[in-house]
Amino acid sequence: MNAAAKVFLDSYGCQMNLYDSELVCSLLRSEDYLITYDYREADIILINTCSVREHAEQRAIGRLRSFGSLKKNKPRLILGVLGCMAERLGEKMKEVVPDVNLVLGPAAYRDLPRLLDEQLNGHNGQFITAQSNPGENYSGIRPDRREGVNAFVSIMRGCDNFCSYCIVPYVRGRERSRSPEEIISEVQDAVKCGFPEVTLLGQNVNSYRWQDVSFPDLLGAVAEVEGLKRLRFVTSHPRDLSYDLITCMAKGGVICPSLHLPAQSGSDHTLKRMNRGYTRGQYLEKVRKLRDFIPRITLTTDLLCGFPGETEDDFQETLDLIREVEYDDAFTFKYSVREGTQAAEMNDDVPENVKIERLERMIALTRKTADSSRKNMIGKIVEVLIENPSPKSALEWQGRTACGRVALVPGDFQRGEIIPVKVEEVRGFSLWGNKTTDN
Ligand code: SF4
Repeated sequence: MNAAAKVFLDSYGCQMNLYDSELVCSLLRSEDYLITYDYREADIILINTCSVREHAEQRAIGRLRSFGSLKKNKPRLILGVLGCMAERLGEKMKEVVPDVNLVLGPAAYRDLPRLLDEQLNGHNGQFITAQSNPGENYSGIRPDRREGVNAFVSIMRGCDNFCSYCIVPYVRGRERSRSPEEIISEVQDAVKCGFPEVTLLGQNVNSYRWQDVSFPDLLGAVAEVEGLKRLRFVTSHPRDLSYDLITCMAKGGVICPSLHLPAQSGSDHTLKRMNRGYTRGQYLEKVRKLRDFIPRITLTTDLLCGFPGETEDDFQETLDLIREVEYDDAFTFKYSVREGTQAAEMNDDVPENVKIERLERMIALTRKTADSSRKNMIGKIVEVLIENPSPKSALEWQGRTACGRVALVPGDFQRGEIIPVKVEEVRGFSLWGNKTTDN
């Protein structure tokens, strides 16, 4: 039986994976498993993995091998792999890490308590993979949230876009949305539990649809939830970012003036090969509209360099895009082949040293634009939602502005408070300032 079996769960990758780990904890607790944050006392170790890049998989594999070595002294330890790498590799996982007992992709977690029961009841040592349910959206399960100020709420799962470099549609399945009623009720619960901020999650939130309810409709309805202080959402696909969404965001209120809008490239030639479904011009037109309607909006992005066929001219267009948009931050990556994607069939012709050099140039430029955007905040008054004591000073707290910038504030505060702060300096990647009574 599972009586008092202790589970340690480690998560890698995106916010959706963190949310899924909260769902898994909830599923396990409801079947009387205990969650532990110390792997040394665990009877079961689960790793929720990410497949987006080779590097992410290698990290998870390293971690699994190191946990696998614990079996020498603890032969009944169960080692499970969840998430995108589990879905991608399936049975092959056993060849990669022979100590693995259990492999479950992102749409198979309802089976987890039963499969763990089986392992604990005498089948320990067997290797099991579970079938993913393509329509699974975990309706009826409330995540088991840790403390903090932000609650993630999944509104949809999967992706239909098939960007040529991306593994997500193959491992997370096709798009399916959750009902607005269930989403709103989950947001209400999160607020009741003390979370002032909610982030709505989906691989492409803009294509959310439930009967005649679109994403702007849903966002507007969630923004009305009593007690909610801040509302964010990720990820927006630029092609699907609609005028209705921009006008909904422009109403302000609890909807934060910040948007993560992955450009991936500034070159039409590359965007086409990436199958992104928009041109540089269309992307910039949306950026202009966003800035017209929401002047203080901050924009962040994802950028990929060294994609097959990317020339120096193509790359220069990406650098120009960074200069033109003046992103507040960017997640920058160099291309690596993901087996099973369309891009894996293309000639990976940009040499590794060129990829590295382009990545360095991209990082340097995005740091420069982000730095100047932060410096423009000096002298302004911002509302900071207090999150945690500062990791650098016992005399300061760390929080975030509505635009998503990190801020450090000296003084003693409560987690979840929102305070007005006059920005006095930029320290590294953070704004720094004192609480103010000025208007
Ligand atoms: S929109 Fe493209 S990059 Fe994003 S998850 Fe879907 S396929 Fe991947």
